[in-house]
Amino acid sequence: MNFGGVDRMNTQATRGGYPEQYYPNTEELKKNEMRVVALGTGRPFLRRSQANASWLVELGNGDKFVFDFGFGSQMNFTALEIPYSEVNAWFATHLHTDHVGDFGQVWIGSWAGGRLKPLEVYGPSGLEPKFGFKHFCEKQMESYAWDTNSRVGALPAVGAEVNIHEFDYSKTQVVYEYAGVKIISFPAVHQVDGPVSFRLEWNGLTFVYSGDTTPSQIFIDNAKEADVVVHETFNTVEQLMDRSGYDERTARAIGTYIHSAPEEASVVLKEIDPRLAVVFHFFNDFDTTPEIRERIRRHYQGPLAMATDFMVINVTKEHIVTRMAEVSEHVWPNKSKHAGFGEAKRKPMPQMSDWLKEAQLFPKQDSPRGLIYKGD
Ligand SMILES: [Zn+2]
Ligand SMILES: [Zn+2]
Repeated sequence: MNFGGVDRMNTQATRGGYPEQYYPNTEELKKNEMRVVALGTGRPFLRRSQANASWLVELGNGDKFVFDFGFGSQMNFTALEIPYSEVNAWFATHLHTDHVGDFGQVWIGSWAGGRLKPLEVYGPSGLEPKFGFKHFCEKQMESYAWDTNSRVGALPAVGAEVNIHEFDYSKTQVVYEYAGVKIISFPAVHQVDGPVSFRLEWNGLTFVYSGDTTPSQIFIDNAKEADVVVHETFNTVEQLMDRSGYDERTARAIGTYIHSAPEEASVVLKEIDPRLAVVFHFFNDFDTTPEIRERIRRHYQGPLAMATDFMVINVTKEHIVTRMAEVSEHVWPNKSKHAGFGEAKRKPMPQMSDWLKEAQLFPKQDSPRGLIYKGD
């Protein structure tokens, strides 16, 4: 499943004793180590090989953060066999569906998956309240009223709660600071006001994630001296015309006006000169990637990874190692027992109409131990 997306200087020579592939739950992070996993690297179209944007960052202190949660990406999160309850917080760069489409799965999946505290989500404001992250989350939750109501009797009630942290998109500022982890938001230049990029600092290691952006000085200034820089780039205009059926005008608008063309991302990466540059947000295929890589190489000559889903990056002060994860198609999420889950407070089970109850072949009300939880 490795598409050869990692340039030589970053593979064999510096594998640093890691197994050839990353098998979930088989490698404990060292105390001073960061692990980055690509959960989604593709374009707004979903396809089996590449979900929409999402990046997991795990730290040696046990913290876990997810940046963006586009459509399909949470299926890849599940494949890593990490209990949802272990994620500290989720961060959205902007409100395009390919970056926040899996909100419902993040929310309900983590609830059913053992989370015994409110979901913590962070995202930017917009020029008007209706373009902000808070509005997005509230309307998503409201639209799932039936779903939430149906679950509160069976699952711990607290899991339905979401703490929405909306912050000013226009400022460069710390939006999360806890246990030695600092996450800084700064404005991204992407079509209209609102989008941001993130910089995570911990234990002398820095990870910077662009979300969607056209090349900008703000990004360069905030990504300087980072260890790992994940910057977006798109398929070339020619590829968009040949394979996505776009006319030239549309292809140019998408590939260069809204997103960073590879040769433009190249200039940004050269300026930043990170320990490892990662590009994503393009369809990564054997017959499209060489041309994209050649354009990235026009200016930037440093270590480079062309991301695809399940790319795994281990980062310490000494080395950066890039591999692919090998995952099961039939994984069961949340294999571990959730402490306190069974005892956590529920709400009274919502009731169906009598005529539906009467249609049951095996009425549940009289079950021993009460399958219907009456609440407190
Ligand atoms: Zn976007
Ligand atoms: Zn996008």
